[in-house]
Amino acid sequence: MKAAVLYGKEDLRIETDFEEPTIGEHDVMLRPQATGLCSTDRTLYRGFVPFKPPLILGHEIAGVVSEVGSGVESLQEGDHAIVPPVFPGCENESCPQCVEGLTNRCKQSVFIGHGVHGGNAEMMAVPARYTFMIDSKVPLDEACIIPDAVSTPFHALKSRSIPTHLFQKASLRELTGKGEHWLKDKNVVVFGVGGVGGPTVNLAARYFGAKNVVAVDIFDEKLKFAERLGATHTVNSNDYFTDNGIEMKELDARERSKALSGLAKHISSHLAEDKFQVDLVADTSGVADTFPVAVETVSKNRTVIQIGWPPRPVAGFLNQKIMDKYMTINGTWACPMTEMAEVVTAVEEGTVDLDLLVTNKEFNLDTFVDAIEALEGGNILGRASIRIE
Ligand SMILES: [Zn+2]
Ligand SMILES: [Zn+2]
Repeated sequence: MKAAVLYGKEDLRIETDFEEPTIGEHDVMLRPQATGLCSTDRTLYRGFVPFKPPLILGHEIAGVVSEVGSGVESLQEGDHAIVPPVFPGCENESCPQCVEGLTNRCKQSVFIGHGVHGGNAEMMAVPARYTFMIDSKVPLDEACIIPDAVSTPFHALKSRSIPTHLFQKASLRELTGKGEHWLKDKNVVVFGVGGVGGPTVNLAARYFGAKNVVAVDIFDEKLKFAERLGATHTVNSNDYFTDNGIEMKELDARERSKALSGLAKHISSHLAEDKFQVDLVADTSGVADTFPVAVETVSKNRTVIQIGWPPRPVAGFLNQKIMDKYMTINGTWACPMTEMAEVVTAVEEGTVDLDLLVTNKEFNLDTFVDAIEALEGGNILGRASIRIE
């Protein structure tokens, strides 16, 4: 079969005769039609993270089922389906994470397109229980971004945004039900409008019904994109520093924290009509210095979620604020299997603007490296999907 196979650092070969996978009793054979391009693909290609070659990349996958194992009842040939990038390798009682329902944090997690072969190939074998059917009216070259770019912020907003003190009075079910999720009519700030930040803005505004979504980035083009996705206000943080004559590099630690706190006030000033209330800050930026701003920006008794991977620790950080604000600070990771079906339904019902989020469809397996270079060059506004043909 044809496949884009990584043999080592920057050694990606388009093979036409790669060994085809076989399926077991509880697996399905999928013919991937498109994969979403993620910065993880870039880090693997550039050799920043170790892997065992040969490896077929691609972990955001949408395709058509071409064969099912004898024990599979949930899917049949011809079904359109998506596959999550991380699924549990066990779900048994010896795994504390799986016992607690954290299938996204299973000790034996299987990482598609990293630990095992991914979807940049004509065929792939996947366990049926982790293959999610999707209505054929959703284009597969858009559906491919659901498994990671959409489901990761979905889980973050649905289950990681809730200030823990609310559980003293209400149950998880009451706080997270569809249409009555606690984020409804709340004010959300999103840092970084990239491949994950875009869906975060979109989901917060359209699915979770936030009243205001303030998008913060350093590029005007990304902020305009955020407006199309549902942001009610935008802040260019570079412009804020320039307009106020602040040169961050020249400041000492004390002046820096003053400048960051000024930026935080500027962000919440857009919510003056709501007494500057910020109910959630979702940091998808992948920049370290945004964390102190997030802590400054969020209102008392509310939540900060770290969604983007911070590249280094933060220096000079005022951690007293965490206590004073009675703050909930949450990490998040992928999406548990129990929430994947809800993400799919949200997309099928049209409450996620996949057509806006996928901004680049011009790439295929043969031009996969071009796509990685475009991503590195900042030339992909939202998400790119790779055609498998
Ligand atoms: Zn990814
Ligand atoms: Zn497990």
